[in-house]
Amino acid sequence: MRSEDLFKKAASLIKASKKVMVLTGAGISTESGIPDFRSPGTGLWENMDPTEILSTQVLFNYPEKFYKIGFKILSSMRNAEPNEAHYILSEMEKKGVIAGVITQNIDNLHQKAGSKKIYEVHGNTREGSCLRCGEKVSFEVLERKVEKGEIPPRCDKCNGILRPDVVLFGDPMPYAFDLAVKEVQESDLLIVIGSSLVVAPVNFLPGMVDRLIIINATETPYDYKADVVIREKASYALRNIWDLIKN
Ligand code: NAD
Repeated sequence: MRSEDLFKKAASLIKASKKVMVLTGAGISTESGIPDFRSPGTGLWENMDPTEILSTQVLFNYPEKFYKIGFKILSSMRNAEPNEAHYILSEMEKKGVIAGVITQNIDNLHQKAGSKKIYEVHGNTREGSCLRCGEKVSFEVLERKVEKGEIPPRCDKCNGILRPDVVLFGDPMPYAFDLAVKEVQESDLLIVIGSSLVVAPVNFLPGMVDRLIIINATETPYDYKADVVIREKASYALRNIWDLIKN
């Protein structure tokens, strides 16, 4: 099917649905200059294994290594700006077309674009906390300490090691994931945007809904189940679909 026909099919599915949720992954933010994990040639995986560096195994056992390599990746995402795809999703929510966004991203770009109902199922890069006493600190505190050479950064209250509040490989899922599951189970359509759908347990979500649209540059394991698969850039696809819905 031609892209134009896929956009039409996606738009009519969205219009015909009572409740639509969106699931985003790193691919929605590549157009904001943040590399994803798995795009061939540019993904972070090309240079290192993120499941090793961004893991509790490394944070707990080799905190210096975590802060010298993994933390830099997290910190570098924080200056990015939303792109058209983030803004269209925010607009879609305002107009009541989608109920909210579930994101695997930790780059804060849905917030920056004005989305309100956001389930950050892999945490965020706004805060950190102490591994020993749980004291919360802002991400800026972590960055300032690391810049000053305090590696690993330590809690001012108890001297425990501080961590960013992102869900690392090996961490349990946050409560936001339970809420996201409930939202998807109540929805009749899920739109996946920019995710390889290989990271569990987030990749169970497409299996929990009747109707599925996948917008992703490359193949995913759930393409077989999707009503519409669009292999285009997120912003281009969303712009075309939104033009058909809003007019
Ligand atoms: P992934 O890297 O596994 O998959 C991204 C997918 O997006 C790929 O299949 C790629 O083909 C596709 N893609 C890339 N650019 C695209 C575009 N412009 N339009 C449409 N599709 C595009 O990412 P994932 O599934 O989110 O899983 C990786 C994990 O790493 C997640 O936990 C994610 O949150 C985290 N991560 C987050 C960021 C971020 O916050 N921006 C960046 C890197 C990794």
